[in-house]
Amino acid sequence: MVRPSRVDRFEEESIVLSTVDYGEADRIVTLFTLGRGRLSAFAAGARKSKRRFPGALEPATHLKARLVERRGDTYRLDAADVVTSFHHLRSDLGRIARSLYALELCRELTRDHEAHPQLFNSLLEYLALLDRAQAGPTSLIAFELDTLARAGFRPQFAPCLHCHRETGPRPVFDPDVGGAICGNCAPQFPYAVPAEGRVVDALSRLQEGERTPFEAAIRSGARDLLNLFIEHHLGRRLKSVDFLNQVGVD
Ligand SMILES: [Zn+2]
Repeated sequence: MVRPSRVDRFEEESIVLSTVDYGEADRIVTLFTLGRGRLSAFAAGARKSKRRFPGALEPATHLKARLVERRGDTYRLDAADVVTSFHHLRSDLGRIARSLYALELCRELTRDHEAHPQLFNSLLEYLALLDRAQAGPTSLIAFELDTLARAGFRPQFAPCLHCHRETGPRPVFDPDVGGAICGNCAPQFPYAVPAEGRVVDALSRLQEGERTPFEAAIRSGARDLLNLFIEHHLGRRLKSVDFLNQVGVD
């Protein structure tokens, strides 16, 4: 009797989300794959042999990964062909910081083996814009709102989550309830934080597809609300937020 093979070989279009060194010579690579969502694969010899994965295991690289699945839960990366390296991304700290933030968002907001083809394509599109130096701070916020929505965590900025009227000039923001609440309803939400009406309006317009760049004060207010929202839903702060702050970009 022939025993059924427990090894499945397949190829997946992937984006490298992050890598961690393992032992002396190996690396564990977390990939965002088009067909199977996030998965981590063991890349044996990745740090010793440059020939085996030439330039393929840098975060943000778009590649065709040849993978082997063993026993249904562990993966081995056998080979990787670079489709796009996005090497301009790594030419300045601002772009590095924004790309790492985008990658961390996708890594933290999705689960293993849960395919998100639209999010995959939206990440690829964002990385391409960043590579061509065509994505500023408002594009990052737009990407973030889009990622949150596609991952099932869409914050609502208009209308008021409670009375469904306009959020008005003195809204509050409650990450637990999922968004903005008007000044009239605010007393019923004691854990909400005060927000600026113009920030909430700007985020709502961005969510609707308007692409006017935000001025600095709006960006900073928007960043505060989104950090609070993401931290509340993940139970921790994204590491790359601190890196964005350190290099002074938003
Ligand atoms: Zn209300």
